[in-house]
Amino acid sequence: MRLLFPAARFERPWQIAPSWLRARGLKGLLLDLDNTLIPYGYEGPTPEPLRVWLDELKRSGIAACLVTNAKPGRTRRWARKLGLPGIALVGKPLPFGFFWGMRQLGLERKALAVVGDQIFTDVLGGNLLGLTTILVAPLSDKGLPHTRWVRALERRLLAATPTPEKEESE
Ligand SMILES: [Mg+2]
Repeated sequence: MRLLFPAARFERPWQIAPSWLRARGLKGLLLDLDNTLIPYGYEGPTPEPLRVWLDELKRSGIAACLVTNAKPGRTRRWARKLGLPGIALVGKPLPFGFFWGMRQLGLERKALAVVGDQIFTDVLGGNLLGLTTILVAPLSDKGLPHTRWVRALERRLLAATPTPEKEESE
């Protein structure tokens, strides 16, 4: 069961301050794309809070890459737009994409955090590898059909148990 719980929860990724990461020895982020950084299927301009946050991370020496189950074309477009390396179709919670991210950023597990909106892909996958996992609230309800009932299950899981670590961004 412990594998299904994140180390920390934030409403939005841009609330995760570089100082909060540094205080925990975290130097790199493996970022989910859909419903974490941008709404599922969104193709517009980069949202301002996201752009500002990524700049802040870069200035603070926090490395980041996209590890996403999205398709290659969409992943490539957003990787280019956000100025991050990225890998598509990784089949989270399988470890392949996270291993790629670790090599890409050249960081050890204890220095890496997974940031994502889904327990059964992002949190489970990250926890299986001993990475720090940060759960954010999904940016939209849109997703694949099976995702909707998984979300209902996630809500029940989270509601049934105390918040693992209630922390606010600085
Ligand atoms: Mg997602």
